[in-house]
Amino acid sequence: MVILKTLDELLRWRALIDSSKSIGFVPTMGALHEGHLSLVKKSMDECDVSCVSIFINPKQFGDGEDLESYPQDLDEDLKKIKKIGVEAVFVPKNNDIYSKDDSLLLTETRLSMVLEGKSRPQFFSGVLTVVSKLFNLVQPTSAYFGMKDAQQLIVIQKMVDDMKYPINIVPCKTVREHNGLAMSSRNEYLNREERDSAKIIYLSLLHAKQLIHSGESNPKIIKGEIENMILSVSGFNIDYISIADSKTLLELDGNVTTNSGAIVSLAVFLNEVRLIDNIYI
Ligand code: AMP
Repeated sequence: MVILKTLDELLRWRALIDSSKSIGFVPTMGALHEGHLSLVKKSMDECDVSCVSIFINPKQFGDGEDLESYPQDLDEDLKKIKKIGVEAVFVPKNNDIYSKDDSLLLTETRLSMVLEGKSRPQFFSGVLTVVSKLFNLVQPTSAYFGMKDAQQLIVIQKMVDDMKYPINIVPCKTVREHNGLAMSSRNEYLNREERDSAKIIYLSLLHAKQLIHSGESNPKIIKGEIENMILSVSGFNIDYISIADSKTLLELDGNVTTNSGAIVSLAVFLNEVRLIDNIYI
């Protein structure tokens, strides 16, 4: 495994790859867990050469968010990916990606305006800007993204379509803890008791799915049941609960059925920690 620490090292590595080879790319912010590693494994299964990037992207954090405290442990991350046998890890510094002179920020104007985009207005511009720069540098054949961040996946697919990137975006299933909690670097902020409480999030999503499968079609009732379940556990506050069309992300106001192509998603605070999850119906 080569560790590429600068832009030059990355570009030299990239230039040596034969054009007949497929290149898989997994962008991450580090603090790697089994969810990240599942993306890396998929990339390695499907591509000739794989590259993982580890970069905490400051542009996707808003004021008062957790940029300063975001978990990081590069040595541990490198051990984990070396064990899997990935070919390259790109660990750029901030000035490899951004310069003081930068005056361009990518913005998506529809899919990114709701849900996470509404709660975190700077988030998707930050994500799209860094992912687009990384795509330009790594020039992958395929890039792997988790369905845990479903809206991010949809918005990135939109960027690739609109900007004509010749890159195949591969959605990867959400990896969960034994109790159902979606794995996330931010779970490191939770103590043991909170991790246990957090299982209610996925249980409420499963309950919503089951309600829809058994014929409940009123989104207000379904959202109400999710809310009641979550608020029955102490420490929770709801940011949003959504039942939306999984392609347009527009809220479904009428009847929701198993044929609606719905995605149920939510963001909640467990004490200070913001957690998101979703389930496709
Ligand atoms: P992050 O480091 O949080 O920016 O995540 C990097 C990539 O890993 C993104 O594509 C995430 O959607 C994906 N990811 C994070 N958590 C999970 C998970 N529990 N299961 C699958 N993919 C995940």
